[in-house]
Amino acid sequence: MRRKIAIVGGGITGLTAAYQLLKLADAAKEEIDCHIFEASSRLGGKILTYREQNLVLEAGPDSMLARKPAGVQLIRDLGLESEIIEQNPNARQTYIVKNGQLVHMPGGTQMGIPIHFTPFLETPLLSAAGKTRVFSDLVLPKREDPSDESLGHFLRRRFGDELTDSLCEPLLAGIYAGRVDDLSLQATFPQFADLEKKYRSVILGLRKTAHPTTASTSGRSAFITLRGGLQSLIDRLSEVLSDSAQFHLRTPILEIQRLETGGYELSTAYEHFSFDCVLWTTDTQNLLKAANKLLPVGSNQWLNVPAVSTATILLGYTPDQLNHSLDGSGFVVPRLENRAITAATWTSSKWPHTTQGRFSLIRCYVGRSGQQEILELDDKQILQKVRRDLEDLMGIQASPYFTHITRWQEAMPQYLVGHRERIRTFKQHMATHTPGFLVAGASYDGGVGIPDCVLQGQKTATDAWMYMHTEIFR
Ligand SMILES: Cc1cc2nc3c(=O)[nH]c(=O)nc-3n(C[C@H](O)[C@H](O)[C@H](O)COP(=O)(O)OP(=O)(O)OC[C@H]3O[C@@H](n4cnc5c(N)ncnc54)[C@H](O)[C@@H]3O)c2cc1C
Repeated sequence: MRRKIAIVGGGITGLTAAYQLLKLADAAKEEIDCHIFEASSRLGGKILTYREQNLVLEAGPDSMLARKPAGVQLIRDLGLESEIIEQNPNARQTYIVKNGQLVHMPGGTQMGIPIHFTPFLETPLLSAAGKTRVFSDLVLPKREDPSDESLGHFLRRRFGDELTDSLCEPLLAGIYAGRVDDLSLQATFPQFADLEKKYRSVILGLRKTAHPTTASTSGRSAFITLRGGLQSLIDRLSEVLSDSAQFHLRTPILEIQRLETGGYELSTAYEHFSFDCVLWTTDTQNLLKAANKLLPVGSNQWLNVPAVSTATILLGYTPDQLNHSLDGSGFVVPRLENRAITAATWTSSKWPHTTQGRFSLIRCYVGRSGQQEILELDDKQILQKVRRDLEDLMGIQASPYFTHITRWQEAMPQYLVGHRERIRTFKQHMATHTPGFLVAGASYDGGVGIPDCVLQGQKTATDAWMYMHTEIFR
């Protein structure tokens, strides 16, 4: 019996899931019908690389964490290992904006938390009182309550407000374009809760367990990318899948319903398709819209995952235009600084292969939770604000040789306090009410990073495979 499975969403989660299913089918010497439905005209979702005049311009993610193995393993599996590029070791320094100045991130910190004390004691980023408060983590008792709390609540009680607002907020919440006081500790940085539980002091725990590629003083690259941009991963996946899977681009799924026979019917604007199993990888809003009649009561609450809009702005300068050496990987901007830019990557320094010395490339982010008004402006106005910040912070007055603005509408899912528990409850209900209808992707419970999405895609595809090989299909 040839099983039919639909994957909704052609981002990295959906494509990895399809790849995993076809590998499982291959190993079992079985054939399956795998259909991938994608609303837009291209595959990749948030992964989007422009390749223009031999430049590699990332509009979405620009790299992935090397220490999470799923991403690197997938790259190897697809034969792209020789394309892996590590971050320039000479451009490791990160800056933080403090009172309108770029200040070195102190060495020996992990995610803003000091592991080595001397450089931290010397940094002008915190007052003496702020530093003293950070070290009270060494003596504070641990929290006994196992329930979730906000990342901000955790950081403030362990390290105080100053470290939280000046360093941790832009570094940690910045990954989600969120606010530390809204984001769930359990869903974003559960390792902090584990460290507190095990070692009481988070600093002591980090000193015992610090991973060599994450401490800012280490020698190895914490991030990797691909020579032709992350789009190469998408291109390779679609190439490998093209023989055995069917792609349906520009085909948003508008409705999913249960069939009396046990499978599911997917409806587009013009057609209906039936499947044994459906793996859904879009954001929760699109899921709620399409599966409105099918999902268990309570889904609206469980799937309340607001998403924040952001934009990336690429500014390319000829080398003679810049009076700044871009001697690092870029900077992050705490909210207190009231800037349009939330963070900037000095791309041509961090990833020299992207411009090969022909341009100095700066990539700025705007928009985060509570600071999204900027996205109501037109491109010209956004660019003006970004350039004003670059002039203030880096002294850049020159007009960029080229610019590229990409808007990401409601693109960054916010894992609010209690997120993991809500998604777990939702999935449990789904397993009972809608067996064979599975969800995965950045909006659910595995993390927003590319390796997290890869892992979720693989795991959920394996669950789908197991489901299709249960008794009812025999
Ligand atoms: C600006 C930005 C920078 C980032 N930087 C990094 C980074 O440096 N490193 C990192 O690891 N991560 C980064 N991320 C996060 C990471 O890129 C994403 O979390 C990840 O790519 C999400 O993949 P996904 O497949 O789960 O979802 P998506 O990529 O969103 O894919 C979902 C797909 O579903 C489609 N879809 C939606 N509704 C329907 C429907 N009804 N029918 C059919 N198709 C539908 C969408 O068009 C989309 O293509 C960044 C994200 C953004 C926005």
